[in-house]
Parts: sequence; C-alpha cells; structure tokens
Amino acid sequence: MSINVLGYAAQTPTDDLTPYHFARREPRPDDVVIEVLYCGACHSDLHSVRNDWGNAMYPLVPGHEIIGRVLAVGTAVTGFKVGDSVGVGCMVDSCQHCDACEHGLEQYCEEGSTYTYNAFDRHDKSLTFGGYSEKIVVSDKFVLKIPAGLDLAGAAPLLCAGITTWSPLRHWKVGQHSKVAVVGLGGLGHMALKLGKALGSHMTLFTRSPDKEQDARDLGADQIVLSTDAAQMAAVKGQFDLIIDTVPYVHDINPYIPSLSIDGTLVLVGYLGGLDPILNTVPLIMARKSVAGSLIGGIAETQEMLDFCGEHKITSDIEIIKMQDINTAYERMLKSDVKYRFVIDMASLKNEK
Ligand code: NAP
Ligand code: ZN
Repeated sequence: MSINVLGYAAQTPTDDLTPYHFARREPRPDDVVIEVLYCGACHSDLHSVRNDWGNAMYPLVPGHEIIGRVLAVGTAVTGFKVGDSVGVGCMVDSCQHCDACEHGLEQYCEEGSTYTYNAFDRHDKSLTFGGYSEKIVVSDKFVLKIPAGLDLAGAAPLLCAGITTWSPLRHWKVGQHSKVAVVGLGGLGHMALKLGKALGSHMTLFTRSPDKEQDARDLGADQIVLSTDAAQMAAVKGQFDLIIDTVPYVHDINPYIPSLSIDGTLVLVGYLGGLDPILNTVPLIMARKSVAGSLIGGIAETQEMLDFCGEHKITSDIEIIKMQDINTAYERMLKSDVKYRFVIDMASLKNEK
C-alpha cells in the first residue's frame, strides 16, 4: 500500500511553497521507510524551486539534507532496523553497475544518478519528492547511518553541505600541511571551514561580508580576506593549495587565481553555468594551476564524512525553523542572512493536520 504524506511543494517558479498531499510508493524489498525529523534548506532547494537551472518539474517538493528515524524496512534490508537514526542526501538511486558506481562515485553515475527530488524514479518512473515532508521511502543503498551522539538537527546539513565540501577536501588530499581557502560563508562555506580545520589544514575565508569575520574565526578560519579589498587579495598571492568556491551566482573567479600556489586548484561547487567575465588562462599556464568542479560525494564517502563528524563532534551551525517559515527563510538566504543553515523541524507539519 502506498503511504500518504503531507509535504510542502512549489507549484510554479514564482509562488510560495504551500502544503501538498501526495503518496509515497509502497515499499519495495530493499526500501527503508523513514519518518523525516529534520531537513536542511540548501541553496540548491531555492535554485530548484525558482527554476534557476531550467529543469524544474512541478509540483516540486525540495529537501536533500534529511535526518529521520526508520519506521519500517523491506524484507531484503539487513543494514537498518526500526528506530535507527538515518540520513538521506541528494541521491536516492543510481544504475549500480557503471564504472563510476562501481568505484563509489554514484554522483557521477554514467546513466545519471536519481536525485532525491525533481527526478524520475528509475523503476516506476514516478517523480521523486524530497525531505520537506513527513516521510520518505528510499532504497537501503542510499540510506546513511548517523553516528550516535551527534545532534540530529545539526547533522542534517552534513548530508549535502557537509559531503559537498568533504569530497574536494579528500580528493585533493587536504591534510596538516595544506593551505585551503573557502569562498563564501554560507551553508557550504561554514562546513568547509569546520571540516578543513578538523583535517588539520590552515584555513582562510574569502568573503564579501566584513561582519562575518568573528564567526569565521570561531568556525575555524585562521585568516579572513575581504574579497572586495584589492590590497587584501594581493597579500595572499601564491598561498593556497586548494580554493573551494561556494558562491551560488555568476561571479568573477579571475581575482582568486593569483592566490593559488603552483599546482593549486580552484574547485567550483556553487555556481552552475557560464563564467563571466571569461577566465584568463595566463596565470593558470604560468604555474600549472587548475580550475575544477565537484558534485556532492559518493555514498561510501558520505558515510566516511559522517563517521569523521561523529568522531570529531562536528555538526552544522543551524537556525531551526518551522515548515511554515520556509518562504521567509528563502528570502533571508538570498540576502546571505543565515547562520549558517536553516533546518526545518518536521514536527511543525503536525500542526497542519
Ligand atoms: P548559501 O548558504 O546561500 O551561501 C552562499 C554564500 O556565498 C553566501 O553566504 C555569501 O557568502 C556568498 N555569496 C552569495 N551570493 C554571492 C554573490 N552574488 N557574489 C559573491 N558571493 C556571494 O548557499 P549554500 O547552500 O552554501 O550553497 C552554495 C551553492 O552551492 C549553491 O549554488 C548551491 O546550489 C550549490 N551546491 C552545490 C553542490 C554540489 O554538489 N556542487 C551541493 C550543494 C549546493 P559571503 O557573505 O561570505 O560572501
Ligand atoms: Zn544541497
């Protein structure tokens, strides 16, 4: 039997999110039925709702930073039991047999991974709906274990903001002798500072917002550079092995390239699309620098990050909101007025029943 749930959906790119009743599929043998307790509000939710990427399908129920409790498991599920604290991130399925999937890179699945929302289920072709809802049904291969002792609300953003910054830190082998910079102090940026610091790296924040300096230090930044100040930008020439750029909108990356060391990499995780103004290749060629991109992280890597956060007691700095506050939260997110992630308490949905 399918499962009736209440969520919040966008019906068009311009309307507010409003209550929406829909059905989750009848669990398959490998499915885990999860009561959603908390769901982070990622800037990607906002991009999706407003159709910034041109691929939105409505009704659109966002949410891919999901923390919940297992309500039931299918007959083939052995890794989870009723009552477990679990997480679900940006993906709920992938082909499971291509080269990428076999190497734990489900996010780069050659057939395309199935996103948690705004995608079609690979088996029944139904539209996927995300975590702004009471319950979700997910294949066990895409369910994560939440380490005991982590605050569940604060752990929600690890499922996207955490893994999206962890993956480049690991891919570019960041450790004790690394110098890493982060562009933009928002959901992703603050997790990058925390995770990079816990890996032992020297951390720098590039920000447009002078008032974020103290917060950045508290989050682990050793150095803060105001990106609008040419003298401060010039002072960090040649410093960084890795720059993680989290800015969500088109921006000029040329000013950051001189601050990379020889062989340094600037990895874009925020903005999707054409760069403007165009990228000057001279400083890249003159010091073998790279500009790269990175998408979330694989399932095993996400579990690795969660376990690391469990050991190091790392969670996100959050502001808990009610589901009914999501539209104002989006407006605040657009003004960078969030410290540093909104997390929806799904208990607030019970008031609507
Ligand atoms: P967020 O919380 O809104 O933070 C973005 C930060 O970027 C802001 O706090 C601000 O920091 C800076 N910023 C915002 N607008 C800017 C502009 N026009 N120019 C320069 N800086 C600007 O967003 P988020 O949730 O961290 O998400 C960041 C981006 O990553 C989004 O585009 C999201 O879609 C994307 N994303 C990508 C992946 C992936 O797998 N690659 C995964 C999740 C999210 P300052 O005030 O410090 O300058
Ligand atoms: Zn996200």
